[in-house]
Amino acid sequence: LHWERQIRSSASPRRASGLSVLVTGAAGFVGTHCSLALHKRGDGVVGLDNFNSYYDPSLKKARRSLLSSHSIFVIDADLNDSHLLSKLFDIVPFSHVLHLAAQAGVRYAIENPSSYVHSNIAGLVSLLEAAKSADPQPAIVWASSSSVYGLNEKVPFSESDRTDAPASLYAATKKAGEEITHTYNHIYGLSITGLRFFTVYGPWGRPDMAYFSFTKAILAGKPITIYRGRDRVDLARDFTYIDDIVRGCLASLDTAGKSSGSGGKKRGPAPYRIFNLGNTSPVTVPTLVSILERYLKVKAKKNVVEMPGNGDVPFTHANITRAMTELGYKPTTNLEVGLKKFVKWYLSYYGYSPRGSKTNLL
Ligand code: NAD
Repeated sequence: LHWERQIRSSASPRRASGLSVLVTGAAGFVGTHCSLALHKRGDGVVGLDNFNSYYDPSLKKARRSLLSSHSIFVIDADLNDSHLLSKLFDIVPFSHVLHLAAQAGVRYAIENPSSYVHSNIAGLVSLLEAAKSADPQPAIVWASSSSVYGLNEKVPFSESDRTDAPASLYAATKKAGEEITHTYNHIYGLSITGLRFFTVYGPWGRPDMAYFSFTKAILAGKPITIYRGRDRVDLARDFTYIDDIVRGCLASLDTAGKSSGSGGKKRGPAPYRIFNLGNTSPVTVPTLVSILERYLKVKAKKNVVEMPGNGDVPFTHANITRAMTELGYKPTTNLEVGLKKFVKWYLSYYGYSPRGSKTNLL
């Protein structure tokens, strides 16, 4: 590989007993923040991302520039490139993989179902195949999703609750990912930690998510569409600030333990863990909009319609007792504070002057 030297130096921890982590989806929202946080505390990080155009590729490129300004190298490759993955594990003895690359979003599955199968099923298997054959075998921490709870009506959602009614193809592929990783855990002894993220938001966020697209539309004076559940009930989400999620990811890596190798015979069984990473305080979508209106100093033009049944669930709410007990996870940022940070980033990134007039649209 022609970038072998950069990969080796990017992967080298700068602190004693530091981790060496492959972060997939590193140019994504969560991947960028986690890569920076790992690097900051002295761990070695190599990123991998295919820079697909599901949303604005220039935002992914800007995130990559941010990472490269900290000497974090991001390989431009698809998870399904098994040849490249096995080479990569030959070059670097990664202690951990933080697997965040995926086709995200629930509604896009109507338009492009195969991209979910490509990245979330085939891509996951390709990664696990490479990891199981690597020496040493890295411990895997990966992003599942709160969407696995689907149409479950018991709140808050606990890890032991049923996950047999996914409401979208996205949710179905995340649920399948939990089963697939479990198989690799018990057959090949891979250490697996699945994290069910609850609606993550913050600076450098995803343009396809409501808080981001609402901000864009409100500033442009365009109408926003707000979904409402049956019986005129407002949709609610357990919005979780990115810094809290990053802390949960790092704590998961630190406690992941070792893979035990094929059959789990050498060192006893490798761990298989699932954690909710949420905020435990759901907020309705109209409340989200009113906070944005306040920070943006613009009234939204609202178009309220009944939820069309294309993959969204009416509400999410995490029980985080397990993550608190086993990871020391404790979310600290409420939606008011977190959205303020997001809006500040948004206005600066897209070149709005403090008074709100646009000066330098990227
Ligand atoms: P994101 O779309 O910003 O990041 C995913 C990255 O993976 C993108 O940069 C994309 O280019 C890359 N990618 C996709 N398919 C790939 C492939 N086949 N090969 C290589 N790279 C590929 O999403 P995010 O919000 O940062 O989410 C990170 C993870 O967390 C995803 O697995 C997502 O499903 C999960 N998740 C996110 C949320 C949330 O609210 N943001 C909630 C639950 C779960």
